[in-house]
Order: sequence, then C-alpha cells, then structure tokens
Amino acid sequence: MHKIKSVTAKLYEWTGPTVPPLANFCTNASDALPDFGASSRDKMDSFRFHQWLVCEVETEDGLVGIGNAALCPPLIKETIERYLAPLVIGHDPHDYAYLWEKMYRVTHAWGRKGVGMTAISAVDIAIWDLLGKIHNQPVFKLLGGRTKDRIPCYYSKLYAADLDTMQQEAQTWYDKGFTMFKSRFGYGPRDGTRGVVENLKRVEAVREVIGYDCDLMLEAYMGWNVDYAKRIIPKLEKYQPRWLEEPVIADDIDGYSQLNAGPIPISGGEHEFSLLGFKQLLDAKAVSVIQYDTNRVGGITAAQKINALAEAYQVPVIPHAGQMHNYHLTMANFNCPMSEWFPVFDVEIGNELFYYIFKGDPEAVDGFLQLDDNTPGLGIELDDAHLDNFRIS
Ligand SMILES: [Mg+2]
Repeated sequence: MHKIKSVTAKLYEWTGPTVPPLANFCTNASDALPDFGASSRDKMDSFRFHQWLVCEVETEDGLVGIGNAALCPPLIKETIERYLAPLVIGHDPHDYAYLWEKMYRVTHAWGRKGVGMTAISAVDIAIWDLLGKIHNQPVFKLLGGRTKDRIPCYYSKLYAADLDTMQQEAQTWYDKGFTMFKSRFGYGPRDGTRGVVENLKRVEAVREVIGYDCDLMLEAYMGWNVDYAKRIIPKLEKYQPRWLEEPVIADDIDGYSQLNAGPIPISGGEHEFSLLGFKQLLDAKAVSVIQYDTNRVGGITAAQKINALAEAYQVPVIPHAGQMHNYHLTMANFNCPMSEWFPVFDVEIGNELFYYIFKGDPEAVDGFLQLDDNTPGLGIELDDAHLDNFRIS
C-alpha cells in the first residue's frame, strides 16, 4: 500500500517585475463601490493576484504529487497545514473519494466554498497527480482516457485597451491559427452610456479582425448588474458572441437565470464550488456553459462529478483558465469541448504565474493543445528557472 507520509503547502510570492495594467482593462465586482474620497484604492486590487500556492503530497516510498491553488494563497496554506494535512496523512491516496468527503465534512461549518474548498482542491489535485505517478499513467488516462485527438483551445486575453492595441493583439493570434477568442469589457454601470459605447466599439474592433467565422466570447468578470446587462445585451447580439461570461456577481443565481433566458448564452461558474453548487446553477437554468476551475471547485474528484451532472443537463463544461489540472479533465470528458488558454506573458494580472512556477504545461499550436500519453501524473514539475523572482515560504 502507498501511504501518504506528508502534505506540505508552499506560498510563492512574485517579487519580480510586473506590467502595470491599464485603466479600465477589465470590469470586476469592486466597480460597484463608491470611492468616498479614498483615491488611493486600486480599482483592480480584487482582480490582480501575485501569489500562488503549491501543495505537495508525498508517500512513504518517496513519490510526490503536486497540486496548486491561486485563490487567497496565504489562507489556503494555513488551511492545508492546520486542518487538511492531518486528515489525509497515513491514508492510501487511492481512497481519494473518502479523503475528499472527509476534508469536506470536517471543515463543513466554515469551509464549503471559497477558501475551504480551494484548499481541498489543492490537496485533491496533488493526490491525483500522485495516483498518476503510482500507476505510471497520465491523469487523463485514469479519468476516462482520450476523448479527442487534441484539445481545441481558445485564446484568452484581449483585455480592454485602445482599439489599435486590441486589433493588433487579435491579429497576431489569428495569424497563429486561433479560431476562438475571448475579450474583456472595460466599462460597466458606473461608466454610463459612454461606457456602453466604449464596450461596443471594442467588440466591433475585434470582430473586424477575426471575422464571423471565428468564435468570440465576451467577459464581464462580475462587473455588471442585471439592469446594465439587459440594456447592453440587445446591442451586443449583432456581434454574435458565443457566450457572455459572468455578467453579475457569482451569488446572483436568479440574475444569471434571467439573463440566460435572453438571446446570448451566459457562462459562469469559475466562482462556484462543489457538486451541489453546480446543481443549483443547472436547476435554475442559470448558465449555458459551465466554467468551474479545478483548483477551486474541489479538485479533480469534485470536477468529475460535476462533469457527469452537466452532461445529463446537456450543458458543456469548459474549465476556467488553462493549466494542466483543467486540461486533463477536458481531454477525458466528451462533454468538455475545448479549453481556455492563457498566453505566456510578462507578469500582469497573476494568471501568468503558473508558467513561472511550473514547467510542462503544453504550448498551444494552431489553436490546439496536446497531452502526452507517456508522461505520468499531471505532467508538471516545479521550475527553478525563475526562483530569483519569488519569495517562497
Ligand atoms: Mg472568467
């Protein structure tokens, strides 16, 4: 039997250079807050994150599984070390379903969603990486195997900027063979009608470059409200977006349902957690596309249950963010038609940190990703090439 000997949680804090984001580069939930003269408040501070959590689960025979989390890493570290590690040490990682339930139920009074479930996700992903290494198989082979030749992926960046910049970016990646793109809105309710016009101009500019035989997805990152979305959706319709992502805050399930009944499919779920959270969204017909993030939703164990549930509702799952933990699930599930893919850039928002901490994530080629049949586990390792730019604790 392979017994878990230790669970460690390391906080990676980026201390290297960062690209300062432009004003209005993406709406977010904090936009609704008035400033009350506190001009120093950074409107993007709830959006940007320059920390990551790495979780390592080691067996008595020296195999190490790697998991990770990007939501609120300092609290995830504390949660894993103080509460979760003692629950899994001494157990066989093959008992992942029991271990998941144990972590979930023991922390239930205060865990459930947010920090608690994100911490469980990091441990669970590490356990699955470990299982792959124990069996000398890539994780997707343990989840259902290959359901696609390769994974179609969509280019996900195009933050709101001046029109030329956005068009150049779209052109660059269109020329590299991408046929699916996601761009971000920079303006919301506080920007009034002028902001509506600014939003529409940018959608039109991207469409001008990619045409109408490519998919365009639009993202509001919870920065709107139902009223604003209802006013702008009729104006967006002619640009034929494949989906409109997170138009309102994650808890407003009824708001999602109202909007999803309209002409543009609504997507969401990157801020929703566990099987029952997604059952609520599906029962309410709140989303037409599910976008859980494996390193938040409860890890691979929870993601697989949601995949089965969503398939029964005929709602596709397209996990939030690129990154290996999401790609393996996409490869192994018929109901996951594609992956999101963040290009490798200088550190700006924080999504990029994954590429600086780990190596092994596949590069998109012609708009597709490939996973290797012969690399055991998730196929990522810690990369020491950028350690000078991290403070690790
Ligand atoms: Mg999103």
